This record gives sequence, structure tokens and C-alpha cells, in this order.
Amino acid sequence: MTLTKKPETRPAPNSWGLVGGDNPFDYAPAPEATDHVRIEPEYGLFIGNEFVPAKPKKTFTVINPATEEPLAKVAHASKADVDRAVKAAREAHRTSWSKLPGRERAKYLYRIARILQERSREFAVVESMNSGKPIKESRDVDVPLVAAHFFYYAGWADKLDYAYPNREPRSLGVAAQVIPWNFPLLMLAWKIAPALAAGNTVVLKPASTTPLTAYLFADVVRQADLPPGVVNIITGPGEIGMELVTHPDVNKVAFTGSTAVGKMIARAVAGSDKKLTLELGGKAANIVFDDAPLDQAIEGIINGIYFNQGEVCCAGSRLFVQESVYEPLIDKLKNRLSTLRVGDPLDKNTDVGAINSAGQLAKVQELVDSGVAEGAEIFQPDCELPTRGFFFRPTLFTGVSQSHRIAQEEIFGPVLSVLTFRTPEEAIEKANNTPYGLSAGVWTEKGSRIFKMVNAMRAGVVWANTFNRFDPTSPFGGYKESGYGREGGIHGLGAYLDLSGSNGR
Ligand code: NDP
Repeated sequence: MTLTKKPETRPAPNSWGLVGGDNPFDYAPAPEATDHVRIEPEYGLFIGNEFVPAKPKKTFTVINPATEEPLAKVAHASKADVDRAVKAAREAHRTSWSKLPGRERAKYLYRIARILQERSREFAVVESMNSGKPIKESRDVDVPLVAAHFFYYAGWADKLDYAYPNREPRSLGVAAQVIPWNFPLLMLAWKIAPALAAGNTVVLKPASTTPLTAYLFADVVRQADLPPGVVNIITGPGEIGMELVTHPDVNKVAFTGSTAVGKMIARAVAGSDKKLTLELGGKAANIVFDDAPLDQAIEGIINGIYFNQGEVCCAGSRLFVQESVYEPLIDKLKNRLSTLRVGDPLDKNTDVGAINSAGQLAKVQELVDSGVAEGAEIFQPDCELPTRGFFFRPTLFTGVSQSHRIAQEEIFGPVLSVLTFRTPEEAIEKANNTPYGLSAGVWTEKGSRIFKMVNAMRAGVVWANTFNRFDPTSPFGGYKESGYGREGGIHGLGAYLDLSGSNGR
């Protein structure tokens, strides 16, 4: 008698023994308390250590993207306010900050870092309320990294001569910094910590949807007793960002955001003596070889694209899978996707929070629709979404071809496009076939293959057997249309220094 094995109709269980949408755990809500945070009804511009109204007085409303409820009104800066802020920064640079010995600047930065640690819970809650990111990320990733950046650059402030021997490093002057909404506080830290360590003063413009932790940080600046004018924060629309970066008395421009705006800024400051760094978009390849530990790779893929709702410039949004492991990997990925919890960002169980704005949600939806229309196969877990707020199901596309828009354009949402390859050469060719070059990931057991891939990838950061790991000591930045210059590490410090002098030693 011949026994025929019945075909497997259900996908194999994942490493936790869960299949598909099966979830043996019934989670009770575990919301983080908000009664310990105080969000003011209205925030003025932060200039010269004072909160001042915009001139003429004008405000706009900031909302919570998870509830669509208003959180606060913030000042809408005018061109005259930009000028006021730059003047305050210039005066502080001339009279106090650039004159302080490095060890004194370091003391202020250490103080800021310690206050951020002390107030970390408050910062995490406000960040999640304003940006929509899950509290477990703002609490365990964003805020600790923010403090780490201030500690790290505090360490450099009195060692500039050692960092750049024979160079006489000098501060540049006033830095204009424009940051996006996906990591509001972390981007503030990436910009402000090295600028201050190097002896510059700053005017920072947060994104219009996410200014609240920047204004909370202004409170830390006062608490740390920084001289007035060293840190200035102004809010307003994109045009105000442009007024700031093109202000004639600004010496250094640092921008993080879309490639389109980055190009406009590069054109606007071309021909001036402003030093410029641009950290722009990405369309990272995450490459899984057939010898990779698949369960570990699954966690890396999930973290690579669904962390922060995929609103990450270095997100692993294109997954390249070696054909021989394609089927088991996709089965495991769909199972894991089905266990992600989407919902209230303040719930400690939430994995995927709210998209930052209605506009961004519409952009994600439009690109997902294009993926379906162009013939890719969509998979979305059958999870319930909150009825209010800007939520989007974690999405996986298979059958994607390189010409599809979802394989070409930065979606900036929880959407993964899966492609396949047979040889390392094919993986390299396909992975580099993008105008961007910010980051990449490689999953393999072979060290030699990791080195080969790292050298071949046109990407500023390549992670091996991990993804989306950040450290203040490590430089971050792009190739091609992902921008230029590096942030983090000693490279990030150099971007805020004039190194043209030589002390003749
Ligand atoms: P933007 O590049 O428009 O915004 C980033 C920052 O630049 C914000 O502070 C914004 O201010 C400011 N800004 C906008 N226009 C100008 C301008 N003309 N001159 C100077 N500053 C300006 O990104 P969006 O918010 O519009 O997002 C659009 C897309 O960009 C996203 O879908 C995503 O693909 C990509 N993006 C990439 C980011 C990255 O880190 N690589 C970050 C954010 C977005 P305001 O908020 O007031 O408009």
C-alpha cells in the first residue's frame, strides 16, 4: 500500500508556534499614563531663552495623529522672526558660546544629557502623542539615543584639537537646521549636539506636525542654564525653513527630509559660503541569502520596515530574497506580520502606531493602490484598525518587479516590496538600481560574503545580520540622491567645524 502524504494546507508555524492570525494571547490594554506630562495650550517661538509670540502674532494647531484631537497651538514664524532668531544666535556665538573653553561647553552638554534622562518618560510620552510612534519605540529607542548623542558629543567638546591634529578647528558660527517629523527629538539631537560641541549656535525649525518635543527641549535648555541665544527654535511652514537656510547671516545649513526639498535647498544656497549637509530619502535593499538564519532574518525584516510605521529614511523597504528560500521565508513573514499589533501609540503592546499626518496616509495609500494596479500581489493581516486617527495595515507585496513604483519610490509607510534573486551579482545589480543610496542590509552566515556585499553596495550604511541599528559613534548619511555629508561620530563633528586653518605644527 502506498501512503500519500496529505498536502499541508496551513502554513508552517513560526518560531513561537503561531500560525497565521492565530493569537493565543488576549492582550489587555496597557496604556502609558499621560497625567505626568504638561502640554501648554500655546507655544511661542523660543528665541534668546524666552518663549515669544510670532510677529505678527499668528499660530497654527498641532494635532495627535492617533486621535485627530488638537494638542496645542504653536507660533507661525514670519520672515522677521527668522531674522530675530538668527540675530540672537549670532550674538550668542559672538559674546558667549564661541568664547567658552571646550570643557565648559561640555559641561552644558552633559547637563542636557542628564536632564533628558531624568525627564525621559515625559519626553517619550509627548513624542508618541505628537508623532504617532509606539511608546515602546520612543521610550526604548528614540529618547535613550537622544541622551546618548548629547553624552557622546559632550565628550568631544574639549578634544577638538585631538580629533583634528594640526588643524586649529574653529566653529562656523550660526547653524540653520531643518528637521522632519519621523524622529522629531532624535533629529533635533543629531543636529544640535554636534553643533554645540563644536562651538556653534543654532536656529532649529522642526516639522510643522511635530514641534512639541522641540519646545519641551527648549525647557531643558533653560533648565541647563545655557546662555541665551545658543539654541533657538522657530516653527512655521516650509517657506520659513527656506527663509532660515537662505538667511545671509547663517554659516551652516543642515537639512533632513525629502529629496525634493533637499534639492531646492542645495540650489538655494549654491554659490554662498554656507556649509551644507543633506540627509534625504532612501529605498534600502534588505538582502537575504539562503544560508541566513531565517527566524533571525524575519525579525530583522520586520524591524527594518515596520519600525516607526516604516516612516524611516533608511527603512528596509525592498526585500531581496534568494529564490531557494523564498517560499519558507514568505510563509514565516506572513505569520509574523499577522502578530503585529496596530493601534494606540501609547499602548505598551503596540508595534505599529499612527501615520504622522492625513497627507502622509494618503501618500501611502496612493502608492499601495499603484502596486495593486501594476500587478503586484498584496498581503495585509486581518487586524482591526482604530476608527479615528491615521492608521495603515502593515502591508507586504510579492510579485514585485523592479519597474513598479512601489520598488522605485520612497513610500515612507509600513509597506514592504519583495523581489527575488539567484546570485550575489544579481542581488548587487538589483539593489543598486535606485536613485537613492542611504542604507542596506545583508543576511548571510558567511563573513566573506558580507564583506563582498558591503563593498559592492552603493549605500552609506550597510547592516549585516541586523537592521536599523543606530549609535552616536557611527556616521550616518547617503550616496546619490540620499544626500551628502555624514551625521554621527567624528564625521558629524567635522561638518560643524572650519578645518581650513593649520597651527603649523
Ligand atoms: P519635507 O522634506 O517637506 O519636510 C521636512 C522638513 O523640511 C520640514 O521641517 C518641513 O517643514 C521643511 N520644509 C518643507 N518645505 C521646505 C522648503 N521649501 N524649504 C525649507 N524647508 C522646507 O517632507 P514632507 O514632510 O513633505 O514629506 C514628504 C516625503 O518626504 C515623505 O513622504 C517621505 O517620503 C520624505 N521624507 C523623508 C524624510 C527623511 O528623513 N529622509 C523625512 C521626512 C519626509 P514643514 O513640516 O513645515 O513642511
